[in-house]
Amino acid sequence: MAQPILITGGAGYIGSHTARHLTANGAKCVIADNLVYGHREAVPIGAVFELVDLADRAALKALFGKYNFAAVVHFAAFAYVGESVTDPQKYYANNLIGTLNLLEAMLGAGVKKIVFSSTCATYGEPQYTPIDEAHPQHPINPYGVTKLAIERVFADYEKAYGLRHISLRYFNAAGAAADSAIGESHTPETHLIPLVLKAIKGETPPIKIFGTDYDTPDGTCVRDYIHVEDLAVAHQLALEKLGSFCGCLNLATGVGTSVREVIAAAEAVTGKRCPVEIAPRRAGDPAKLYAAADKAREILGWQPRYTEIKETIRTAWNWEQNRKF
Ligand code: UDP
Repeated sequence: MAQPILITGGAGYIGSHTARHLTANGAKCVIADNLVYGHREAVPIGAVFELVDLADRAALKALFGKYNFAAVVHFAAFAYVGESVTDPQKYYANNLIGTLNLLEAMLGAGVKKIVFSSTCATYGEPQYTPIDEAHPQHPINPYGVTKLAIERVFADYEKAYGLRHISLRYFNAAGAAADSAIGESHTPETHLIPLVLKAIKGETPPIKIFGTDYDTPDGTCVRDYIHVEDLAVAHQLALEKLGSFCGCLNLATGVGTSVREVIAAAEAVTGKRCPVEIAPRRAGDPAKLYAAADKAREILGWQPRYTEIKETIRTAWNWEQNRKF
């Protein structure tokens, strides 16, 4: 029987889409999640669920004793940038120590393959765009620092212990499963696309546009929105490449979309007006973040299927109208 894959944080947004994709493609997935932010309902049929917190070293050891894992896909982390600034202890403890505990259990069981959920937040303020993997990494918040530190830990563990690792640096994850079975569900929600859709539904107050005086074509911030199902595919490809490649890859579309363009696209998709309010800039928001993902194309043979922001928003809207959790 095929060895299972461990997916930490597999009940979360990107983790659950990846678990679903891997399961649909015949992998046996074990999902370890503490359900602090994850959703039990997001675990795909066919995957095994284990309630485990990465702070619990004994539970991790037991987990690796119970299953003969072939590899790990590691999503489990706190990911609120603003909270990481006000409560860095929470982020260093959970993200960094949690990962060290995971690596300890992996190496103890002889599991040496890991695909990791990293982020464009490891780059900090861009010195040039599109951002490639060689761009200097100077994260400007503790969240980004934890993710960068983990990338560095992997490089040292590779040299010392033969760890095989691929860190996938996502730009702005967006959208939902094409069949709307799962999608984005954060509490609190802070991300632009779900907030725009909730404002359109009249569920929340008008969307606040954080700054209209940036040095961008329409004055609002530009981001690279990458569909969550394209991210899921990249994780599968990365798992297959762990034998021949170690390192970091950007996952992005290469296309920058402004806040106003996101709102206009959401209005076109929904056929409804989005109430907006102009608000001051949000601290720590660079004007433009978009990436070159040529390296992922070259190494993984990966190509995003969703290149139109409207199509990405359409999947988010279908999910938003009929959310299951
Ligand atoms: N944004 C906004 N209003 C909101 C939430 C976000 O104008 O209520 C902007 C934010 O300033 C950024 C972009 O939308 O330029 C994407 O923000 P999000 O929080 O979705 O992702 P981030 O880029 O912070 O990872």
